[in-house]
Amino acid sequence: MTAAPSMQELAPGVWAYIQPDGGWMINNMGLIIGTDGATSVDVTSTERRTREYLSTIERVSEVPVRRVVLTHSHPDHCNGTSLLPDAEIIAHRTVADDLQRPHALAPHIFQPFEQGLAEPRIPTLVFDDAVTIDPGGRRVEVRHPGGAAHTRGDAYVWLPEERVLFTGDLVFHGGTPFALSGSPAGWLRALEQMAALEPQTVVPGHGPVGGPELFEPVTDYLHFLIDAATEAREVGLGPLEAARALDLTRFGDLKEQERIVGNLHRALAELDEVEPDVARAWQDMYEYNGMRPLDCHA
Ligand SMILES: [Zn+2]
Repeated sequence: MTAAPSMQELAPGVWAYIQPDGGWMINNMGLIIGTDGATSVDVTSTERRTREYLSTIERVSEVPVRRVVLTHSHPDHCNGTSLLPDAEIIAHRTVADDLQRPHALAPHIFQPFEQGLAEPRIPTLVFDDAVTIDPGGRRVEVRHPGGAAHTRGDAYVWLPEERVLFTGDLVFHGGTPFALSGSPAGWLRALEQMAALEPQTVVPGHGPVGGPELFEPVTDYLHFLIDAATEAREVGLGPLEAARALDLTRFGDLKEQERIVGNLHRALAELDEVEPDVARAWQDMYEYNGMRPLDCHA
């Protein structure tokens, strides 16, 4: 079990719902209250967690959740949307494609968890570059960074008046960044874009709320990853061998260290301008983890 989630008010009517410990499948949500209803940034991985989130919303707001902005297509962020059957689901165009063709993971990769009756709904409103929402009395900008970053369909949510930024998984706080379905180089560009907004408050996709200092360790890790992949390519090491040879002491405080393997799969493929073997990448992460399922407390 993990500690209880908390609903934290960042500005009047702007909330972050933080789920400890921020590990695999345990993500954060944003809640933006407007006069015409509430907008949720993402939902959770399971029926139980999404129901707990929705009942917490009722304690801080009387308006219904009318919209969900999906920051990307990963299941922890999208599964609970079936519990909001009437809400508009807003996402980048590729999220709709990805949710219709999900990548089926081999069952031994993760510790099993109870998803319950929660499954992703296909977005009802898609955008390519950006969309601005006006949920009654406040401006909410939803922007795609212009290319693949954490995934190919990321969106971050920016409230210019409150200077609050919901990054989705473009920022991990306390966990290892995970780039298997994105682009390490593109992710660095996305971080620059978000830093240029000069946010006061940064809500990461996983881990506690912070400020713009949260960009630094992600940037640092991605540079390290690209350098490691470049070196591995020069000496002809594959992703798993390269990961085993790497010294991660500098990132010793980050959880989910096994992500280095998936990250190297993507970074090496990016250098070769090909797509990685995603099923192989997950299997290699499992092997790097000592042939044990990856920790999952969802
Ligand atoms: Zn993700």
